[in-house]
Amino acid sequence: MLGAEVRGLTGCRKCQRLVRCMAELAPRKGLSREDYWNAPVPGFGDSMARICLVGLAPGAHGANRTGRPFTGDGAGDFMYPLLHQAGFASQPLVEHAADGLQLSDLYISNAVKCLPPENKPTAAEFANCRPYLAEELASLPRLKVVILLGQGAFTSYLRHLKDDGRIGRLADYPFAHGAAYRLQGGPWLVASYHTSRYNVQTGRIVPEMFLRLLDQARALAEGENG
Ligand code: SF4
Repeated sequence: MLGAEVRGLTGCRKCQRLVRCMAELAPRKGLSREDYWNAPVPGFGDSMARICLVGLAPGAHGANRTGRPFTGDGAGDFMYPLLHQAGFASQPLVEHAADGLQLSDLYISNAVKCLPPENKPTAAEFANCRPYLAEELASLPRLKVVILLGQGAFTSYLRHLKDDGRIGRLADYPFAHGAAYRLQGGPWLVASYHTSRYNVQTGRIVPEMFLRLLDQARALAEGENG
């Protein structure tokens, strides 16, 4: 399942700090650098999706290794079984980009396409990468709901909307798990806690919360609440 073709993404080197981070990353025990993607990771999924789920950035030994968002790391290990249960993913277990996974009515991407040190992109790196996410979202003709995982992705998307003149003050859109905002003439925004291993281990997000959020997104996409 391929992602939308985003012009210039594959060879992008705009964020030198992230390019260095990928160049210096030590492979996991038993693996070599050749086992790693170590490049911008494009989104992927159903090109007719009504829902797009946006994470923060590739995980060092997850998407940055496999080349597909949330594939091969703790966040994906939490998320994909629930996406499968909710009918968005063809299989619960995902391990690598050629495992046959198909998404239905869902597209998955990240706010920042390259691995950031300590999972913390700078404001400039978010800004550099915003046009790529904007292009991915614009390529989804049926898009109704954008789920933003975590405050970083959420705020970056709000900045994109503000730069575009579609919203005013960011403060009018506070982040909270399940908070949903309707944009005039645009998709719903739904905020979610990130499904990171840390959030899962500390109980900040549990399966029931994420399943409810997926139900909420589907209901919004079907127009039951808006
Ligand atoms: S994070 Fe985005 S803008 Fe920065 S180098 Fe990677 S693809 Fe380019």
